[in-house]
Amino acid sequence: MIVVMNRDATPTEVDHVVQLVREMGLKEHVIHGTELTVVAVIGDDRKKDKERIELAPGVDRVLRVLAPYKLAAREAHPARTTVRIGASCVVGGAQIPVIAGPCSVEGEAQILAAARHVKAAGGHALRGGAFKPRTNPYAFQGMGEEGLKLLAAAREATGLPIVTEVVAPSDVDLVARYADCLQVGTRNAQNFRLLDAVGRQAKPVLYKRGMWMTIDEYLQAAEYILAAGNPQVILCERGIRTFEDHTRNTLSLSAIPELHARSHLPVLVDPSQGTGHARLVPAMCKAAVAAGADSLLIEMHPDPEHAVTDGAQSISPQVLAELVVSLRRIAQALDRSV
Ligand code: PEP
Ligand code: MN
Repeated sequence: MIVVMNRDATPTEVDHVVQLVREMGLKEHVIHGTELTVVAVIGDDRKKDKERIELAPGVDRVLRVLAPYKLAAREAHPARTTVRIGASCVVGGAQIPVIAGPCSVEGEAQILAAARHVKAAGGHALRGGAFKPRTNPYAFQGMGEEGLKLLAAAREATGLPIVTEVVAPSDVDLVARYADCLQVGTRNAQNFRLLDAVGRQAKPVLYKRGMWMTIDEYLQAAEYILAAGNPQVILCERGIRTFEDHTRNTLSLSAIPELHARSHLPVLVDPSQGTGHARLVPAMCKAAVAAGADSLLIEMHPDPEHAVTDGAQSISPQVLAELVVSLRRIAQALDRSV
């Protein structure tokens, strides 16, 4: 922290700030400039309350130098983290895995067909929600454990690892028994009990940014998972709320390089929730890869017109197959692969 004193701060006020810094177990270095005095705080102040100093008489402002998250920050961990989903799907390395499948598991035939299409298209993992966090309480809430069993059967049939959402701390053990990767959705992005619970189990976590969250708030929340003991966190940009209404959300592609600059965690992009329109998904997938995304989460339904949830943003198997071909060419230009 850097404490900037008011222009007319008295020596007593500066001494008081020094006293507060020492009470926090930190050291100070007082710099008397020609116009202002600043107090540089020495030591790890990330867990310290800067408001205490901000309220002290004679203080103009307090600036943080270290990010308020420690385990998620690039500072503490300069090498990029890779996260493995199942045996074969690695997120954060040179390969850019495509994770695709329906929004929801609807039945055996649907999820098996979806898994086979993902596999045939060259995808690396299967997505599908068994527990759905729905805005409307009367909307389809997912098949629950039955859906998890169908996902496990689809994995058995295709070898694709499965990514599926968990919506409640009490379901974490159940979902972790079936899933290769637990998804935490946007609506739960600041459900700190849930973040803590997925942090206490051993499967990787695909953690989506809350649609209202700043990058700084997002990384502080990701820190909950890491601090609970699980280092396998994949960040996910899935669009944020803005005034724009031609898309369901505004997909913030600049979040990719920004997250990479601030954190060592891999960054995945979900252009399906990000746009809400199947026709926009391929272009946003390509743009995401070009902007440095480490993986893509894509809604693909064997029969989008009849999808129970999110059909409008689900691409067809054929579009997925064509998309993977174009993504490979873009990845190659970046010395990566799909
Ligand atoms: C989903 O992936 O189907 C989903 C519900 O995502 P989000 O949490 O990003 O809305
Ligand atoms: Mn969806």
